[in-house]
Amino acid sequence: MKTSQLYGGIEAGGTKFVCVVASDPGRVVEEIRFPTTTPEETLQNSIKFFQPFVESGQIHSIGIGCFGPLDLDPTSPTYGHILSTPKPHWSNADVLGTLRRALNVKLTLDMDVNVAGLGEHIWGASRGLDPSLYLTIGTGIGGGYIKDGKPLIGMLNLEMGHLRIPHDRELDPFNGSCPFHRDCFEGLASGPAIEKRLGVTGAVVPEEDAFWDIEVEYIASALMNYILTLSPKKIILGGGVMQREFLFPKIRQRVRALLNGYVVHKNLLETIDQYIVPPALGNRSGSMGAVALASLTA
Ligand code: ADP
Ligand code: ZN
Repeated sequence: MKTSQLYGGIEAGGTKFVCVVASDPGRVVEEIRFPTTTPEETLQNSIKFFQPFVESGQIHSIGIGCFGPLDLDPTSPTYGHILSTPKPHWSNADVLGTLRRALNVKLTLDMDVNVAGLGEHIWGASRGLDPSLYLTIGTGIGGGYIKDGKPLIGMLNLEMGHLRIPHDRELDPFNGSCPFHRDCFEGLASGPAIEKRLGVTGAVVPEEDAFWDIEVEYIASALMNYILTLSPKKIILGGGVMQREFLFPKIRQRVRALLNGYVVHKNLLETIDQYIVPPALGNRSGSMGAVALASLTA
């Protein structure tokens, strides 16, 4: 990768968009954030931001990490569109096509979690470690698994948030909030699941509240499954819920207890505090990941 070359990056989130022109996290030439409103307005704002950089020849490639569900099959007629989403106005929005018609550059699109995982792999907590896993626990739960330097895609995208995990209904009678599976991982442990269960956002639930042990159990169960099936060399936990930093030591301890010595590796037995970690790029994993995506595909 040529580090001096500038690239465009878009973190296209359901709540906000972040657009950057940068070569790496140490050299961000310009950055803008705006709320996600209608596709027309939001994509137009992005186009306006990049246009001068494209016209002056400073950038030739833009990466986009977008919220989903997304059509990422290049042979599909709706490639680059958002599919059916509860988010008003965004079902069938042609994200890639709209940008492509307005900006004469190479555009590369991937799922938000894949792109954030890539950012962490190139510049962040999982630098030099392959494979690695980036998991967000926010409005939804989703994972980006970086293998051989790129996000793993199978028949379709991975849907790591919808894992089925043990649910002790005596301890936690909440039915779950996933419209498809009810008490899958996301249905039990996402930000909205916490809010629905407790009536308040997880941001204000006191650290001493017994609920957090339940949340930790769900996250640790899911991580155990990922460790056993994907064997990542680093696990990065991001998203709104993981802003509660006291969760990290509890999750590490519970993962170790659940695995019960079965996976024999120092990452789990000795240095688990460096194995399950927050994103090193903070809230820039997504936007810098988009820059990394642009640079890798330029
Ligand atoms: P998004 O998933 O939309 O990109 P976030 O990752 O910030 O955005 O996730 C938003 C969710 O995380 C909301 O459900 C919110 O209640 C929850 N959340 C945000 N901040 C915190 C916090 N400090 N502690 C616990 N939950 C939080
Ligand atoms: Zn589900």
